[in-house]
Amino acid sequence: MIRQRARLNHVLFFFTMRLKIFSACFLALMSLLLAPRAFAQSPIVVASQSVDMLFPRAMRFNLEATSAAPIRTLILTVRQRGAALGSRFAVPFAPATNIRAEFEWSFQSAAAGGYLPPGAEGDYTWHIEDAADNVLDTPRAEYVVTDRAHKWATRANDALSVNWYQGGDDFGSAIFTRAVAAREFLARELGIENIPPLKLFIYATKGEFFTALPPFSAEWTGGRMFPDYGVILINFAPENMEWGLRATSHELSHAILHSKIRGTIGELSVPHWLDEGLAVYNEMNDHAPDEQFERVFLLAARRDTLIPLKKLEQRFPEDTSEAQLAYGQSYDVVKFMIEEYGAEKFSALLDVYERGALPDDGLRQVYDMNQDELENAWRQKIGAPPRAISTARMPTVAPRPTFEVSAPLNASTAVPAVSTTPPVAPTRVAQVEHPAPNSSTPALPASGLCGGVVMLSGVAALRALKRRAGKV
Ligand SMILES: [Zn+2]
Repeated sequence: MIRQRARLNHVLFFFTMRLKIFSACFLALMSLLLAPRAFAQSPIVVASQSVDMLFPRAMRFNLEATSAAPIRTLILTVRQRGAALGSRFAVPFAPATNIRAEFEWSFQSAAAGGYLPPGAEGDYTWHIEDAADNVLDTPRAEYVVTDRAHKWATRANDALSVNWYQGGDDFGSAIFTRAVAAREFLARELGIENIPPLKLFIYATKGEFFTALPPFSAEWTGGRMFPDYGVILINFAPENMEWGLRATSHELSHAILHSKIRGTIGELSVPHWLDEGLAVYNEMNDHAPDEQFERVFLLAARRDTLIPLKKLEQRFPEDTSEAQLAYGQSYDVVKFMIEEYGAEKFSALLDVYERGALPDDGLRQVYDMNQDELENAWRQKIGAPPRAISTARMPTVAPRPTFEVSAPLNASTAVPAVSTTPPVAPTRVAQVEHPAPNSSTPALPASGLCGGVVMLSGVAALRALKRRAGKV
């Protein structure tokens, strides 16, 4: 055996030696063949390159380059962090040995780049060819989309940053502290791992906020998240601090749940009531109920007019008080699940949903109950009579995104990076929007988030909500 192995080693050694000699010869030959081309690459020199941030209009990529032969081809490749696809643009310019070129990525037009929120990051490279077939590919250089209209103050750690421009250090610190606590709850108590870094931008006025949003954003939007880029934009002034703290953690919870449970076309399977219930539950450190929701909820519980959970699986009602009830109920069911059965079980449920389970299947796997049965367990806890459960099995429906994948004007128009046709860019902007506090209503409810705000926003908001059918 040993001799055989020695012989084998010998053969292997011999084979390896031959391979090495062959490789050396091959490399020498290749370097000879490639030498003229390698030598020929040197004539192209990049004198300068830069990116001008002209948010909210555009970002401009600038290049100055020279070569011995006229430069005849310029291709700009831009990759956004978080987006699956990059974009490649053939940049027009007048061929010459000394060129200046620029390309404007429009944030306003999907055909020439598309919207990117402040804080979105990426990198870019230039591919340059001259008439003598010399080629130069510049190393990747990074960019960060920046809204220079404001003088931002920032508080940050490795996990998240809070950016604001109105209100002092106390204002930003309070938001940062709340955001860190909200994140910690999800990471520690619910075991959500690998949460990507998140950036929050607080816009003080509605006008400035809408200037920063994609074109034609719904007027009642008060917070918007861009999960692909880990960016959340929220609109509130320092005097609306209480609402802002709740809004910050509410949106952050959505963003983090989003980052955990996402399919290729968006978020799958998580019941809407669970998503919203968790966001409300995590608004405050002590998980205290929201008074307004709570009042409507307690009244409905007393009158036995609670909404069947199954009805809240995909969307919330458009009716104001029904929407409030939906938030109050969802909060209470999530609270029941976490506090009655433990955070570990809830965490396990999120894991099951992450693997793609449908709402009822996920619950059955972890809690051994479907939504109807869970609802009755919860109803028993709050002293409500059990609801008659239909024994007829619900037809299995294909999972649909719990969150909106994109707004109509920013719909997925992904184009593979190999396309070199002039300005066509992928704009994969997944967004969840939440209504803002109504600026014309001075006395804001502290917890006027999502559906809660609908009540204050009046008929216009309701019409907008109806048009958007379930995007609350
Ligand atoms: Zn929400």
